[in-house]
Order: sequence, then structure tokens, then C-alpha cells
Amino acid sequence: MASQFYIVATPIGNLSDITLRSVEVLKQIDYIACEDTRVTRILCEKYGFSAKLFDCHKFNEKERSEKILSLIEEGKRIALVSDAGTPGISDPGCVLIQELLNNGVKITSLPGACAVTTFLSMLPRKTEEYAFIGFIPRQKKQQIEILNKHKYTNCVFYESPNRLKETLENIQEIYGYNKKIAVGRELTKVFEEVKIGEVKEILDYYNNNPLKGEIVAMVFASENSEVSDEELIEKIKILKDEGFSQKDISKIISKLYNVNKNHVYKMVLD
Ligand code: SAM
Repeated sequence: MASQFYIVATPIGNLSDITLRSVEVLKQIDYIACEDTRVTRILCEKYGFSAKLFDCHKFNEKERSEKILSLIEEGKRIALVSDAGTPGISDPGCVLIQELLNNGVKITSLPGACAVTTFLSMLPRKTEEYAFIGFIPRQKKQQIEILNKHKYTNCVFYESPNRLKETLENIQEIYGYNKKIAVGRELTKVFEEVKIGEVKEILDYYNNNPLKGEIVAMVFASENSEVSDEELIEKIKILKDEGFSQKDISKIISKLYNVNKNHVYKMVLD
């Protein structure tokens, strides 16, 4: 083994989604630092890993780095795993890694399952570029800010099934009902489902079908030809100067540019 510290990706649902190299390493390792020992024990039992487990999660990552550093000094080999997928991707890891790097520890990362890449590889994208924002903020105002920031880039995020519909309604309000989005649910699992379409269609679908399990979603990049809020504001100003009423301006702009009327109305009022 070339390293004393390994970051190991584990399955995101289907327990067979683990690489041969990861299995070899996890068989030889002395300790596995994991988010929840009960979750990782299931993997250990399936593959016969006998390493000692200890927890390392977002609430104790800093203090665990001291434990890991002293184990490394004793010559032990350690792996970091999360409950599912790749550590450090919307999961603990970054604080610990910084501490290890500060102390000159060689780190090896073993690639494997990750909900973002599993999802992206199934989507018909026009460009390679994407922004991954982790869990999308809960507040509508923050959602609008972050989605606007990445308007011209495919924007991928994690979301809970309980909040997805509200988030999709916000996306519909920002971009209009025909904005193209994709939702991946329960990837690699028995009830895997991927929906690609206009936000309105997908909202209708989830209003009539169960929405449970783990979710990753993407808002497709707006084309440069799609009009930006700044450009809309310019047009609104012109119509205002021509004496059109606030109601008529909202109607005209939303029809002409296919943008949600309430969104335009807010800009008119501002
Ligand atoms: N580190 C993980 C990775 O590499 O994907 C992500 C960990 S994050 C705490 C967990 C979130 O990832 C879930 O709430 C869900 O949004 C997304 N996720 C994880 N597994 C998934 C799956 N099988 N299908 C869809 N989304 C998934």
C-alpha cells in the first residue's frame, strides 16, 4: 500500500457499486473513519472488511483529525468513507484533509460512486460546463441568488424530497414554466427514476406521483439568447417611459420573452 491515508468512495445505493481497488484497500486497512458506524458496518459485513471503525462526522471532524494523525504516527493505515458516495462531496472530509495536508500526510483518493457524476453522465448536455452547488439553500431568496449566479451554466444540486416541489415552484417562478430541468431520484436503487423536461411537467408529475427517496436535480443552462433580468429591466424602462401601465408591462414582457408574469411584475414594481 502506497499511502497511509485513503479517501474511499462507497456505493450510493447499490452495494455492488464499489471498485475492486477500494475493496482491496479496505481489506488491508487498520481503521475506517466513517460518518455512522452502523451504516458502514453493513458494507464491512458484505465484503468481509475487518478494520476497526470509528465515527468521523461534521460535528467531530476537527478532533478526529488529531486521533487520525496520532494513528498515522503509529504506522497505522486509515480510510475515510462517508455513508454513501464520495467523501468531501456534500459530506465531511475537507476539514480533516486540510489538517492532514498541514501535517505532510500523503493522501490517496480512490474514485467511485457519486450522485452528481452518476446523474450528469445520464443527461443530454450541450456543454461540459456545470456548477455543483451541493444542497440548494432552503430560503427562496438564497435560491434565487444562487440560481441567477449560475444561470448560463448547467446547475446541479442536492435536495430533500420534502422540499423539492417548493424548490421547483421557485425555479418556475424565476425562469418560467417551460424551463428545462432534470430530477434524478434513488439512483442505482430499485426505484431509480430520472425525469427530464419542462419544470411545469415535472411538477405536475410529482403532484400526482409519490416523491420519496434521495434526490439530485439539474437546471439546464439558459441559452445566451435567453433574455437576462438586466435586459428585461431595460425593456420595462422603455415601456414605462411610453406610459404603459404596470399590469400591461408585465403582460407584454412575459408574453414576448416567455418569462413568468409574477417575476416580471416584481421587477416592474422595483
Ligand atoms: N457524498 C455523496 C455523493 O458522493 O454523492 C453525497 C452525500 S449528501 C450528504 C447526500 C445527498 O446526495 C442526498 O440527500 C441526495 O440529495 C444525494 N444522493 C445521494 N445518493 C443518491 C441517490 N442514490 N440518488 C439521488 N441522489 C442521491
